[in-house]
Amino acid sequence: MIDFEDARERMVQQILRRGVDNPAVIDALRIVPREMFLSAGMERHAYEDAPLAIGEGQTISQPYIVAVMCAEARIRPEDRVLEVGTGSGYAAAVLGRLAKRVVTVERHPRLAEEAEERLRELGQDNVEVHVGDGSEGFPEAAPFDAILVAAGSPAVPDALKEQLAIGGRLVIPIGPENEQRLVRVTRTGVDAFQDDDLGGVRFVPLIGRQGWLPAVQDDG
Ligand code: SAM
Repeated sequence: MIDFEDARERMVQQILRRGVDNPAVIDALRIVPREMFLSAGMERHAYEDAPLAIGEGQTISQPYIVAVMCAEARIRPEDRVLEVGTGSGYAAAVLGRLAKRVVTVERHPRLAEEAEERLRELGQDNVEVHVGDGSEGFPEAAPFDAILVAAGSPAVPDALKEQLAIGGRLVIPIGPENEQRLVRVTRTGVDAFQDDDLGGVRFVPLIGRQGWLPAVQDDG
């Protein structure tokens, strides 16, 4: 029998040692049960600091990267946040602990449905899951104080920049499909943006009209 609480605390300590020390982010990681966001039979791997398969060729992100993205997005309790790439719903649950409202968009309906069920089970009522092409953002709920993109894009989608509030932060992996730079784009004025390079990362591709175009055989 696995002691998930003990394993979760060891994961948190490892993330602290790697330099993420934002107290709100650390508290959220201490609370959200990552084992609930994995496919059946995978629970024993829940607190390995690694991405894991969740079906549809997609992954639940590495907890350290979720922590870095949340910390670098500088999320405050009153913030409205957009997440692109719901996947398992784990990062959305963490974001739901940090922000007032979270809108998360996933292109695979089955993943969105499963994530929604998990978030409801956890009572995370400030998180809404939508199916769609998140490379175009979610204009109905814009502007957002923070936007986190959990998939790699060839360039920063204009739609996401336009949906940032003034002062808003967009954290997104940019670059070729096999390796990207994590970039924070801060909207400093109506037409003014500042970019900060946060380091090298490797994400699954952002497939969509403002990301990578879907391959003909792709059924998503
Ligand atoms: N944040 C997720 C979690 O905590 O499990 C992990 C996300 S996974 C690394 C990236 C997700 O982005 C995949 O589920 C993929 O289907 C989704 N995705 C890719 N392109 C997308 C798009 N244009 N719109 C919405 N979701 C997209």
